[in-house]
Amino acid sequence: MLSSKVQALAIHLVWLSMGFVVTACTAPEDAGPFSSAGEKAIEGITEELLIGIVEVLASDEYEGRGPATAGDKRTRRYLAQQLDAIGYLPAGDNGGWEQSFDIIGINATVPDQWSFTMGEEELVLQRWDQFIAASGVQHATATIDAAEVVFVGYGIDAPEYDWNDFKGQDLNGKVLLIVNNDPDWDPGLFAGDTRLYYGRWDYKYATAAQQGAVGAIIIHTAPSAGYPWQVVQTSWTGEQFELPAGAESRLQVVSWVTEDAAQSLVSLAGKDLAELVESAKERTFRPVSLGVTTSLTFSNALSEVSTANVLGILPGSDPELADEVVIYTAHHDHLGIGVADDTGDTIYNGARDNAAGVAQVLAIANALQSLPQAPKRSIMILFVAAEEQGLLGSKYYAAHPTVHPGRIAANINYDGGNIWGKSRDVSYIGLGKSSLDGVVRTVAERQSRIVKPDLFPDRGMYYRSDQFSFAHIGVPAMYLGKPTDFVGRSADWGLQQIQEYEDVRYHQPGDELTDSWFFEGMVDDAVFGFWVGLMIANAAEMPSWTPGDEFEAARKAALAELAEIGGQAP
Ligand SMILES: [Zn+2]
Repeated sequence: MLSSKVQALAIHLVWLSMGFVVTACTAPEDAGPFSSAGEKAIEGITEELLIGIVEVLASDEYEGRGPATAGDKRTRRYLAQQLDAIGYLPAGDNGGWEQSFDIIGINATVPDQWSFTMGEEELVLQRWDQFIAASGVQHATATIDAAEVVFVGYGIDAPEYDWNDFKGQDLNGKVLLIVNNDPDWDPGLFAGDTRLYYGRWDYKYATAAQQGAVGAIIIHTAPSAGYPWQVVQTSWTGEQFELPAGAESRLQVVSWVTEDAAQSLVSLAGKDLAELVESAKERTFRPVSLGVTTSLTFSNALSEVSTANVLGILPGSDPELADEVVIYTAHHDHLGIGVADDTGDTIYNGARDNAAGVAQVLAIANALQSLPQAPKRSIMILFVAAEEQGLLGSKYYAAHPTVHPGRIAANINYDGGNIWGKSRDVSYIGLGKSSLDGVVRTVAERQSRIVKPDLFPDRGMYYRSDQFSFAHIGVPAMYLGKPTDFVGRSADWGLQQIQEYEDVRYHQPGDELTDSWFFEGMVDDAVFGFWVGLMIANAAEMPSWTPGDEFEAARKAALAELAEIGGQAP
């Protein structure tokens, strides 16, 4: 629900825009959110421009843009050249275009078989078809030695929902078997079918480690994950990258199993998976020791490499507001070269994910720069690295921001693009979370499009791309999901297209630029982001979180810190 303050802002903005339309001929240039200068600037956001950029970045020459590869360097060089060419100032380290950071590459040699024993009986799971495992530690060896497997339900400890699956049980040295997602059957509990951070694998692994566990096994189902098993296979295989480990507790082994494999595993203990999962839906649930033990040891080849975020800035024109920024992000990496698909293709071109997002942000950057007067607040264009490895570039930026988080007005993130044509709807991820809602509605109305909330709230999209790193440090953040209502198409066509993409192209070598791409809708989405960012950059106040939102406290802390250190902050 919108707060009354947010509604008031939205109404105010709509009123402003309508008022401006009526008085357009007498109003001074740039008087309203949809100025004639802005209208002229968006003429530069064209299909040709977007196609040209996607063609370059998704070409085989860029080798799928895997972190710290030749393709990565080539990509960064290209982006810096583009930002330079359109008139941005370098905003990286030492006056350059890059903010570089180290990442630890972990190449695990995971055995093809993983066995579990119960007395005399043994169950052997096959890697790839039944389980996927990766190292939880940045050491030469990851090891689980005769550890007991304990079913811990959702593996959630959430005081605000009076929910704790662990019940203080000693899980030191155990391997936890965990149901994916968060409780989704009651709107009053974990936001119903909206996946919260509690429903994400990163939360589950981190929490299992805090419990002292040595390993965690998440049970995959397509509905509970929001993606099919093959995405688990491709995402968790091959070299994995992380920011260097800090002092946090870590698991030795992180893993996933298919639902069938999980059934076999609990059958070994004489239990039924459906019954266990059912029992996990109660607050009174307690961890269930399966009496099954398992060992798994493998070696890790570690490497330390570096990659970089690429960033440029368009200084704001208002002396009072220019030290605040609106940050556009799009990750520039993809999965690189990997396992061949059925056609023998090994290059994960990542055309939609995320050459398309980069193209939209560059087109927006160009349009904003072409305004006769720069927006009041500064505009930062930040192409983050290593998103596919766990949002590493944006996490690094959030931990080492070049602008104090209390001065980052908002983050508008592009991850993917509409490749299906003109749409009547805008799928807005983050609806209800912040005052960005009002701006989004105003711009959507201008485009005669309907704002729809996340159509797949169970997928936790808000936490799955770089906007999450900004929300985490309190910056109101948003991005656009996939629209579904396409002009000239039947009602179910959009969802069919999305399903087809998810099944055969998402994180596969087949994510390539083809003749079946339509760029009209992508132009609309880039124009959309142009106006949203411009309105935020020119507004009197920075956006704010909806009271009670999970990220409001972080914003308040950032603003309080800024008030304290004031002029000393970057
Ligand atoms: Zn992506």
